[in-house]
Amino acid sequence: MPRPIQATIHTEALRRNLARMRQAAPDAKVWGVVKANAYGHGIERVWEGLRGADGFALLDLQEAERVRALGWRGPILLLEGVFEARDLELCSRLGLWHTVHCDAQIDMLAMHKTHQPHRVFLKMNSGMNRLGFAPQRFRAAWTRLDALPQVDEISLMTHFSDADGPKGIARQVEVFEDITGDLPGERTLSNSAASLRFGADAAVRADWIRPGIAVYGGAPDFPDHGAAHWGLQPAMTLAARVIGVQQLAAGDTVGYGSSFTADTPLRIGVVACGYADGYPRHCSTGTPVLVDGARARIVGRVSMDMLTVDLTPLPQAGLGSEVTLWGRAGNGTVLSIDEPAHAGGTVGYELMCALAQRVPVAVD
Ligand SMILES: *Cc1c(COP(=O)(O)O)cnc(C)c1O
Repeated sequence: MPRPIQATIHTEALRRNLARMRQAAPDAKVWGVVKANAYGHGIERVWEGLRGADGFALLDLQEAERVRALGWRGPILLLEGVFEARDLELCSRLGLWHTVHCDAQIDMLAMHKTHQPHRVFLKMNSGMNRLGFAPQRFRAAWTRLDALPQVDEISLMTHFSDADGPKGIARQVEVFEDITGDLPGERTLSNSAASLRFGADAAVRADWIRPGIAVYGGAPDFPDHGAAHWGLQPAMTLAARVIGVQQLAAGDTVGYGSSFTADTPLRIGVVACGYADGYPRHCSTGTPVLVDGARARIVGRVSMDMLTVDLTPLPQAGLGSEVTLWGRAGNGTVLSIDEPAHAGGTVGYELMCALAQRVPVAVD
């Protein structure tokens, strides 16, 4: 018998989450963001659930090839554009749309020999200070691109730094609109958080939204709001089983470093999931899990191949019990990935992306 741990990708949840994002941004087209191997879910595994998107956004040229290999003939956008001049050949061959965020990428385009002019997304740095042209340099970049025979259509793009937080997006929207107001072309501004929180505003949803985390059922603004608040369902479940049980007396400790001490007698379940499976080591005592669909907590440190949970309040649970680390339990109860992520000091994005290669994955 293989080690009892399994991830499951939920096709219907992906479909519903995509529909939810369409509802949040009515009439906008939707990029399904499938970078980082579809946030750890696997591009091929999410395909059936996400093929109803209007396009796919990603960073890696090999991932673009994989999306084309699935038979997708529609739009694919490279969110970071090309990394070297040769990449433009693949863009021409596969018909990829690509972000242009710096002068070097315009230089490469100007040198590129192609029969097929490219569609590009010119990116403004409206305050994130990662990729993009500064607002005062944006129009010069647009004019340069517009003069190139290699370019046939220019769309306009920016990315928010604080769509999920109290600072919000108003200032960045204002900067973007000031500079681009009279330019032609489609626009895209919003990630999941902006689409859910501000998608009712036509200027924010614009022509295309770019949801990632929400499509996979994570809340972009946890703990302010949870996935259930936004009507999102987990697209990934990680579940394992109890492979050992220990009875502790008051004063006994659990695991490496004896970081947890029982103050009363406790029954401990040892679960076949550890940090080598992608479960964060920082999710120590107190992190929630579901045991046979009932909430329980981790005690002690997560080790490489195992973690330990308190079964004391669950007398029915024992050897072989199902332990849901995140996602949907067999009885239908949901533990959003945002909860263990938060307990471990990180975000759901990081947990889903870090699912380890050794975990077998099924699609339902
Ligand atoms: C990753 C990414 C997104 C998706 O962000 P979520 O917070 O997952 O919705 C959107 N736009 C760009 C440019 C990105 O890099």
